[in-house]
Formats: sequence, structure tokens, C-alpha cells
Amino acid sequence: MDVLFVTSELYPLIKTGGLADVAGALPPALALEDCRVRTLLPGYRRVMEALGETELVTVLEDHFGGDTRLLKARAGELDLLILDAPGLYDRPGNPYVDADGKDWPDNATRFAALSAAAAQIGHGLIGDWRPDLIHAHDWQAGLTPAYLATAGGKRPATVITVHNLAFQGQFPAEMLKSLRLPASMFQVAGLEYYGQIGFLKAGLFYADKITTVSPTYAQEIQTAEQGMGLDGLLRGRSGDLVGIVNGVDEQVWDPATDRHLKTPYTFETIEKKTLNKKALQERFGLDTDPDRPLFIVITRLTWQKGMDLLAVALPNLVASGAHLALLGSGEAVLEKSFRDAASDHPGQVGCILGYDEPLSHLMQGGADAILIPSRFEPCGLTQLYGLRYGTLPVVARVGGLADTVIDANEAGLRADAATGVQFTDLTPLGLSAAIDRTVALFAQKPVWRAMQKRAMVSDVGWQSSAKAYKALYREAIEGRQAV
Ligand code: ADP
Repeated sequence: MDVLFVTSELYPLIKTGGLADVAGALPPALALEDCRVRTLLPGYRRVMEALGETELVTVLEDHFGGDTRLLKARAGELDLLILDAPGLYDRPGNPYVDADGKDWPDNATRFAALSAAAAQIGHGLIGDWRPDLIHAHDWQAGLTPAYLATAGGKRPATVITVHNLAFQGQFPAEMLKSLRLPASMFQVAGLEYYGQIGFLKAGLFYADKITTVSPTYAQEIQTAEQGMGLDGLLRGRSGDLVGIVNGVDEQVWDPATDRHLKTPYTFETIEKKTLNKKALQERFGLDTDPDRPLFIVITRLTWQKGMDLLAVALPNLVASGAHLALLGSGEAVLEKSFRDAASDHPGQVGCILGYDEPLSHLMQGGADAILIPSRFEPCGLTQLYGLRYGTLPVVARVGGLADTVIDANEAGLRADAATGVQFTDLTPLGLSAAIDRTVALFAQKPVWRAMQKRAMVSDVGWQSSAKAYKALYREAIEGRQAV
């Protein structure tokens, strides 16, 4: 089966969040299920600089503002198709925002160009390669199924994955023509979203199948509370909607071989984690006491991630005798409150503001527990890394966090199944109670050790999810052939 991925980010070339990790790790897992994936990615400046050799596939003439080259390249095990449109992508910084954090003003055109190119590939732009299925990721690729539908004729099957329903890509209706979309599509049974063009809405409406990144999130987004205005459409398509949890790239995230750790370790040598703990404490200016429970946070500092709750609960965390090392960047108010907390509690709270991939590995390697008090969380990756590194996740019982962590309640402990702590009361008090529960478990050394070891061997790899995607692809293709 030949599959085209369409994505706006891809680890290790360009990453702002979990989407990049998924786009980088799922294709190799799918390859083992006999799916040959090629990935279409914008030729951002950083991508062009990071790529090795490229080969010209074809030129798309007058493609949204200029002649555009489609290039072939490889990155590790990944087969890439790069959309090299300098007018759209050759700029510094982030794929979505400028240096001041403002959306690029031409984002609609930039990602319409990506989706339209994907549709052209689906219709045979590359002479000797035509995908059986196109898998579009998030709003940036959301117009792909719509463009495929505009051309009519035989087309590949389509799947869209929602990595986070909070990001939907809505743009003014006046852009319809410049985006080369027919006026007939601008209706509720089409790509209109409350008077605007909805890129994600288009994908959800026109794709053959919809996935999201955990079964619980798939349920949550069909409710008015969490459907962010798209729950009606999603309920209407519930027969085509499935939740498949993300996995971990086990080559990148492996405590036995991780070169960012002070000391690699395995299930058998888990006691070596203390050496990483010491290195981590030193890095964050914390007291180097091996017996203090050390919590970490690695996240975007936003409301979604519940970081305001943590800011309020922090004095309780410190009062319980625990320490906190936080790595993150985001909202200025939150950055300030964690910076202040670090100076209020020297040696007990450490805070590094910024994005630092190697440091995030050392943190997973050295910490005792990772805090994830998200208000909603489609899947979440940091709890999966935590499991693999024996750093027990303390999570809100939402979305993928509910699906991947087993709570250390009485039943979970008695059944020798618990791998972390879950809590439902999404308030500073609820979070504090979960922290206290974790500190009490940490004090019971054999119980804690057993949980760590169980976490480390729990299945957080990609293969079972890749099998689920393959089955869904087959269903989409067969459904398409029956049309
Ligand atoms: P989201 O995609 O909503 O940001 P996920 O948990 O799915 O959340 O994925 C976040 C990814 O980004 C993880 O790989 C995490 O380790 C990484 N990450 C987040 N913030 C930082 C940071 N400040 N430094 C390094 N890595 C980070």
C-alpha cells in the first residue's frame, strides 16, 4: 500500500509539538506493516538547510504565487517530498508564527498550497508514483480532501488526523477564490465554518475517515463541552471516527542508549537513575538530595496544559518536601510566575524557560515523576516518555492521559497494574492532592520501584497503533472502491 502523509512539521527537521514526533515515527512503524509512506512537507528555510541531497521531481507552475519545485529527499528512514516555494516558506523561525509570535499573515495561502500540492500528487502529478491513500494531519493539511474532491474523477482514499481540535485554521470567506476553491463548497455541508473557510472543517467533512490520537479524546470531541464548535459534525461522522493512541519513537527515547543522559540505564539497572537525578538537580540548581521526590514538567506553558493550576499548587508541592524542575516556554504571565517561584524557593524549585530537546531527555532520565495537569490532552507524549524512563506520570484523567496511565488506586496496586497517578478534580486543590498521593507512594520504596519497573515495560511503542492505522487505511480504500 502506498501512502502520502501531508504534514506541517516533522521530527527531526522541524518541530513545535507532538505532531512532529508522530509524523517522524509513524512511517517507519507503518513500513513494517507493508505501507510505503512518503511525506509531503513545506520547504521552510530550516528544513532546506537541514536537508542533505535533494532531487527535483517536477515543477508546479504558478502554484499559489509562484513556480514551485517538488523535491525528493531522505531524512533517516523517511522518504520526503519537499514543497520548495521560497515565497511562502523561506523565512526565519517557526512554521506558523513570526519572531513576535504573530501568525504569518499568509498562513491560509501557505497551507492551501501544501494541501493543493498533495491533491495533485493524489491525481498523478508524479508520473511513476500514485498513493492509494492520503493521510492529512491537522488543519494545515485539512484542505487536501477538499481539493481532491474539486477535481473529480478517480482519487485516492483519504484520512485526516486531528492532533488537537483547538487549532482549526479559519480564514475569511473572501479568500475562497484566491485559494482556488469553488463557491459551491462554501456551505455548512462543505467547508464553511460560521461564515469563514474552515481548513480543519473541510478535512473533517470531505475525508473518508477521521482519526484522533486517543479513544477518550475521540469521545470527548463529540461533546458540546469539548467539541470546539465541531462536535455536531463529529457526532454525525462517528461511524468514521476512531481514536488511535500515539506511540514513542523507541530509537530516540530509550534510556539504555540515550546519549543525553549522564548514565544510561535499563529495567535491570534502574538504580542508576539516581546519577541522572543528581545531574538534573545540579542543572536546575536544586539541592542534590536523592531522597527528595523530584517532579518535572516539560511543556508549552499554556492554559491547556493546566500550568496556571500548577503555579497555584506550587507552595503545596514544596511544603510536601518535593522538588520541581520545569522546562517550558509560552505565555508571558506563566513564564513570570515560574521564574518568580524559582527565586522564592531556591534549591527546591528550578525553572528553565525555553525549548531544549536534549535537556528534556535528561529530565526524563533523572526525575521521579512527571506532572501533566492538562485541561484537555488529545494524546500527550511526555507521559509516554515518562513511562519508558521509569518517571511516573501524574496526570489529569482526560484524553490520551486517561488511556495510557493506570492509576495507583487500591485496585490498580492490588492488581500489580498501576503505572502512575491520575486525578479528576482539575483545580489547584485536586492537583495538590495528586502530588501528596505521589509523595506518599514515593516514600514506600518497594511499591514505587515496582511501579517504575512496570511503567518501563508497558507497551508504548508504535507497532500496535501502526497496525490499527493499517486496518483503517484498508477500510478507507475498500470503501472508496465501492463508490
Ligand atoms: P503538545 O503537542 O500539545 O505540545 P505533547 O505532549 O503531545 O504536547 O508533545 C510535546 C512534545 O514537545 C514532547 O516531545 C515534549 O517533550 C516536547 N516539548 C514540549 N515543550 C518542550 C520544551 N520546552 N523543551 C523541549 N521539549 C519540549
